[in-house]
Amino acid sequence: MIRVSAGTANVLGLKPLQSDVRPTTGYFLTGGRCEAACAFCPQSSGTGARLSRITWPQYSLPEVLQALTNPSPLKRLCFQASYSSGWYPSILLLLSALQEHKITVPVCVSCRPGSLGEVKGVLDAGADRVSIALDACTREVAAAVGRSWDDTWSLLCQAARAFPGRIGTHLIIGMGETEREAVECVQQTLRHGIHTALFAFTPIRGTVMAEKNPPPVGLYRRVQAALYLLKQDPHRRLVFDTQDRLVLSESEKDTLSPEAFETPGCPDCNRPYYNERPGGVLYNFPRRLSGQEFHSCMGELENSP
Ligand code: SF4
Repeated sequence: MIRVSAGTANVLGLKPLQSDVRPTTGYFLTGGRCEAACAFCPQSSGTGARLSRITWPQYSLPEVLQALTNPSPLKRLCFQASYSSGWYPSILLLLSALQEHKITVPVCVSCRPGSLGEVKGVLDAGADRVSIALDACTREVAAAVGRSWDDTWSLLCQAARAFPGRIGTHLIIGMGETEREAVECVQQTLRHGIHTALFAFTPIRGTVMAEKNPPPVGLYRRVQAALYLLKQDPHRRLVFDTQDRLVLSESEKDTLSPEAFETPGCPDCNRPYYNERPGGVLYNFPRRLSGQEFHSCMGELENSP
């Protein structure tokens, strides 16, 4: 069996679902019960039907492979391997099954490898990218939410050096870091050649952090703007005020385009409603922005804090 995000199952014809935006990447959850204890994640709290806001119904692997061989709008597949013993051989088997079925869209694996050898093994088995989630932006926040920062950072840097352009990470904004710490973490990842996907912290019922608020939208917009600018020049000098708030110059603002506020991550990864409630704040836009939406985002850059 394999767990498939509800939106992906809909695109693959496995599940009816009303949604105004469809995923352009197919998202799958693999492996056994997660053995990590991350304070923000429903997978570690026993409310494991969800990852972030998303439900993940189960399907048989042959059924999913069959659906993937039919024409679909999916431009990428993303396998999120839970932190469980056996994740590594399972993901290798899965990648081999994709090749046997001649499924050729690019594949990412988001996982917690224990060594550079495991990263290489996943890439050699057919993944075009491996994402190793830092999640927390600082060592202190990582410790507070139950993650190990130093080992993950060290492996990320080694992997990015060994496999340039093929290593990414996830950062969750709003778990306790300052705005400056979030931006500086983004800058460090890009300086090391690590692709960086941003997520807004999302409180989920049943988790340790269920009562914590998501980040203020102004703060999130500024981190998105910083990512956009730093992708162009990771050595750009950014300015902060005395509250550790990013201060963008008029010329930096003029450089921003609507793309700055679209879901950042691997190519074609749009993660619709991963962090957002339909009708609520769209932290990451899973589609092109309208002119009015871009105007609103630019206005939100000025929001406090
Ligand atoms: S950025 Fe998207 S496609 Fe890439 S590993 Fe993360 S969730 Fe998967």
